[in-house]
Formats: sequence, C-alpha cells, structure tokens
Amino acid sequence: NLPTETAEAPVTERTLVLVKPDGVRRGLSGEILRRIEAKGYTLRAVRLLDATPALLHKHYAEHEGKPFFEPLVEFMMSGPVLAVVAEGEGVIPGFRSLAGATNPTEAAPGTIRGDLGRDWGTAVVQNLVHGSDSPESATREISLWFPEL
Ligand code: UDP
Repeated sequence: NLPTETAEAPVTERTLVLVKPDGVRRGLSGEILRRIEAKGYTLRAVRLLDATPALLHKHYAEHEGKPFFEPLVEFMMSGPVLAVVAEGEGVIPGFRSLAGATNPTEAAPGTIRGDLGRDWGTAVVQNLVHGSDSPESATREISLWFPEL
C-alpha cells in the first residue's frame, strides 16, 4: 500500500519577483531567471509589462510618504518590468537571500544585487530586483501583478 496516494499535496509557496527597469535595460533578465532556476525554484508565470502609476502605488503602498517614494515610482516607470511568480518550498526567504541586501554596495558577493548591482548616485536605490518579504505580501503582490492567477 502506498499511503502517498491519498496524502495531501504539499502547499507550494509562491513569491513575486520583479526584474526592475535597470535589470531589464542592462540585459540581466536572463541571468536573474537563471539564478532562480539554478537554485531549484520553478517559474510559474512571467510577464513583461510597463507598470502604471496605479499599480506601483498599490505595490509600494507601505512606502508612500517616504522621501524615496516618488523617485521609486518614477524609476519603476522608466522602462519595462519583468514580473515573475516563482514557486518552491521556502521560495519567499530563499529569493530574498538570492537578491541580497537592499543597498547593492552592501549586498554580499554571490547575491544578485552584490554581484550585478552598484550605486549609480541617483535619488533611488537601483537594485535590479524586488522579492516579496512575507507570505501575506506575496499573496497581495501576486494578485496585483497577475490578477488571473
Ligand atoms: N529604496 C530606496 N531608498 C531607500 C530604501 C528603499 O530607493 O532608502 C528603494 C529600493 O529600490 C528598494 C525599494 O525602495 O528596493 C523598496 O524598499 P524596501 O525597504 O522594501 O527594500 P527591499 O525589500 O526591496 O530590499
């Protein structure tokens, strides 16, 4: 008897990854997706789009009012964004580890931001990627960027 036949399928964790306009512009989308897949996560959905102000205001609602908020929204509209849903056990903290610290100057070598990012002296920290920071954020953000999922 194989008990696995009736076992519930494990809940698979999902996160929202964005390759920000600097990453797309610099031709790093493939390298970033490669690192996600090389870690063992699965790409569930991928979409290249021009983000609207309404979408970005919702996505970054927690930062509204901060000094970097408007420059951040401007930056995120400076070119197309590659939105990705990645899936796998532990993918939410796991992708945050792959991404590295927010400031690419401080991000550890081996991380996306540490290896590929730098300070460009702009009003906003251009750090190549976004990754959801909690299960609640992941659910909220996936429904914003992929309403059909
Ligand atoms: N950001 C910035 N200046 C700051 C803090 C954040 O320009 O002092 C930008 C940066 O692009 C960052 C985004 O705002 O990725 C969201 O900030 P958060 O603290 O959520 O960092 P993350 O979770 O992306 O590492």
